[in-house]
Amino acid sequence: MKISFLGAHNTESRNTKLVSLLVDGILALDAGGLTSSLSFSEQLKLRAVLLTHQHYDHIKDIPLLGMNLFLNNAGIDVYSIPSVYESLTNYLLNDSLYPKFLEEMEGGATIRFHIVKPYQEFKIGGYNILPLPVAHSVSAVGYQVTSAEGKSVFYAGDTGVGLADCWRRISPRLIIIEVTSSNRYMQFGRQKGHLTPSLLKEELLDFHKLKAYLPDVVIVHMNPGLESEIEAELSAIAGELGNSITLAYEGMEIEL
Ligand SMILES: [Zn+2]
Ligand SMILES: [Zn+2]
Repeated sequence: MKISFLGAHNTESRNTKLVSLLVDGILALDAGGLTSSLSFSEQLKLRAVLLTHQHYDHIKDIPLLGMNLFLNNAGIDVYSIPSVYESLTNYLLNDSLYPKFLEEMEGGATIRFHIVKPYQEFKIGGYNILPLPVAHSVSAVGYQVTSAEGKSVFYAGDTGVGLADCWRRISPRLIIIEVTSSNRYMQFGRQKGHLTPSLLKEELLDFHKLKAYLPDVVIVHMNPGLESEIEAELSAIAGELGNSITLAYEGMEIEL
């Protein structure tokens, strides 16, 4: 399983893109940095997009992807929870801001939206997908993606503390999770449903208690202005926990 980090941050600039991951070139997780990272032919190879929640930095490229596919007489399957469907249809793809790519147009809907139910595993091609609720300021799910060879990654999306129920249900080789701010913003993290290095540490200690191992961890959704602080704080924690915790960057690839 090859995981490409197309976007790894929570703000966009020439040097940073919003969170988007790509599994084996065909399965996208979140759509903050999809269209600006992929050529047209790579976009046409996408089989599905899994969205974690409705916040703009995670759904931004869905309208743009819709237009690119529409102009190529192509379509795509997008999976998420009902609140994401509502946000896309009410605010973005409503024929006012942009075309209704989720509705039947000539030749069928460009974006075929599928509602996922937390805890109910489903298949996309050879992959098993398990959506699990995470603790954010709006309804949100993380996804465990398991390949046909049995390799698993869990992508949490945006989340705050309180992942024990999630941990009980998964056994991934790799966790991709957010750390938005450094420890001095812990109060913000607790209020808004985000993680800091020390909040992540508590979650990882819970994971170890429940599962008796710790997977490698890759961090996304960093505030670029706090990245060096986050990195220093995380490296101390990785030393204490004895596992690998690395910050993702745009263009990074991992072979599981
Ligand atoms: Zn969010
Ligand atoms: Zn976000």
